[in-house]
Amino acid sequence: MRKVDVVIVGAGSAGSVTARRCAEMGLRTLLMDRKREESIGLKVCGDEISKSHFDDTGIDYPKDDEISTKIAGADVFPPNMKNELRVRGWKEFDGWTVQRQAFGQRLLDEARRSGAKFLSEAHVSEPIFRGDQVVGVAYKDPNSGETKTVNAQLVVDASGFAGVLRNKIDSPLVEKEISKEDIALCYREILRLKIPLAEPNVARVFLQGEYAPNGYAWIFPKGDQEVNAGVGVTGGKGRGSPKSHFLKFKERYALLFGSTLIDGKGGAVPVRRPIWSLVSDGIAFVGDSACMTNPIHGGGLGAGMRAGIILGEVANGAIARRDTSAKGLWSYNTRYLAGFGRRLASLEIFKRLLVDVDDDDMNYGFERRVLEAGDLMAANRGDGFSMGAFEKARRLRRGAGRIGLLRKIQKASSLMKSIDRLYSSYPLRPSGLETWKKSVSEIIEEAVFK
Ligand SMILES: Cc1cc2nc3c(=O)[nH]c(=O)nc-3n(C[C@H](O)[C@H](O)[C@H](O)COP(=O)(O)OP(=O)(O)OC[C@H]3O[C@@H](n4cnc5c(N)ncnc54)[C@H](O)[C@@H]3O)c2cc1C
Repeated sequence: MRKVDVVIVGAGSAGSVTARRCAEMGLRTLLMDRKREESIGLKVCGDEISKSHFDDTGIDYPKDDEISTKIAGADVFPPNMKNELRVRGWKEFDGWTVQRQAFGQRLLDEARRSGAKFLSEAHVSEPIFRGDQVVGVAYKDPNSGETKTVNAQLVVDASGFAGVLRNKIDSPLVEKEISKEDIALCYREILRLKIPLAEPNVARVFLQGEYAPNGYAWIFPKGDQEVNAGVGVTGGKGRGSPKSHFLKFKERYALLFGSTLIDGKGGAVPVRRPIWSLVSDGIAFVGDSACMTNPIHGGGLGAGMRAGIILGEVANGAIARRDTSAKGLWSYNTRYLAGFGRRLASLEIFKRLLVDVDDDDMNYGFERRVLEAGDLMAANRGDGFSMGAFEKARRLRRGAGRIGLLRKIQKASSLMKSIDRLYSSYPLRPSGLETWKKSVSEIIEEAVFK
């Protein structure tokens, strides 16, 4: 395996799906991970994934031991934890919490059965270049401990939040660093509850407030009497550790009283729009390494798997044309960023609104139902909050006490639509990127709601 068509660094959900699709396309594919094989899939996560990602990609639904429980709805709480929005009957929200290890092992298995080779315990240290083109990677051989190399026509960085290759590429197309404000530091526990859940298929989400400053807390069912509960906070230093916030939350939230700890760990996830370009010469980025996560709650399993399918197909075309330059790989950008990626970008505006609106206004908005479950679903699809004139007037009456809040919501809705339009016309070639970036940055800069 000194020379392959595609080498993929990282066998998480994004890397494994990419490897599977590349191999299905007939490409000689090598998937590498620093973990031992049996640890693939083990990852600190909320474990929740919506069914829509499987419906849209053709990846088989989780089944048997991959499933912890089925999710069919959510209660979304404002900071004062009163007047929650009960989201029910929206099929985009239906899904599962998964057993991460079993699910990850299945994705790896599917990649292998499609013909991808897998090398475990191989720590990749850096990309190898010929001129500006990435042509392979260097890694520590698991048997000898020596540094070895593997050459490939395309290198894929699927190394997750670490972005181990992305942060070593000097190219105007590549964002090396992700700002601290765009990273959620998380802590989550798997807990056995003292009493069974009244609604064992309903997720709970808690926005902002004392327990999740600039972020959110969650309780996702893992069974009738087991949950995955955690906190993610953004905003860099001065916010306190996510673990300390979570422990406070656990002490005060009655459902969690007297629960038994099964596992408790921290993690980090990017919470911003995807990186500007998902490709550079000889290299592509997928999953968390490309910031493919929902900026509001950091959900990234589905977003990365969707991208993996597209990337496999683009890789096949580019390799057949013998052009894995940024230009040759560009259709990965246009297909993903103008498609699912535009949703993620539009949700960044919504996240900025949630972060900027103070707790008092948010409590008021929930109490008076200034936004409803359907709006959250529309926002989640990247549609902004589309209301007819009659509906607008109705909401205006309800929110009359806080005209400022209504204006902020309207501004966010309009910016979400603008960003959606811009992403729909993602530049068709690298030369158009700088002008497009400028237009997107102007909208992001405008997204201040204080
Ligand atoms: C606390 C928390 C809760 C979350 N909750 C949810 C949720 O409920 N739903 C959801 O959809 N998403 C959730 N996410 C996000 C989700 O976990 C990620 O978006 C997703 O797992 C990213 O997949 P990935 O394949 O890009 O990266 P990863 O799963 O991180 O995989 C990267 C792989 O690369 C390997 N690797 C890294 N460096 C190297 C190297 N140098 N050499 C070789 N291999 C390397 C790693 O070992 C790893 O196996 C959560 C994240 C956190 C932190």
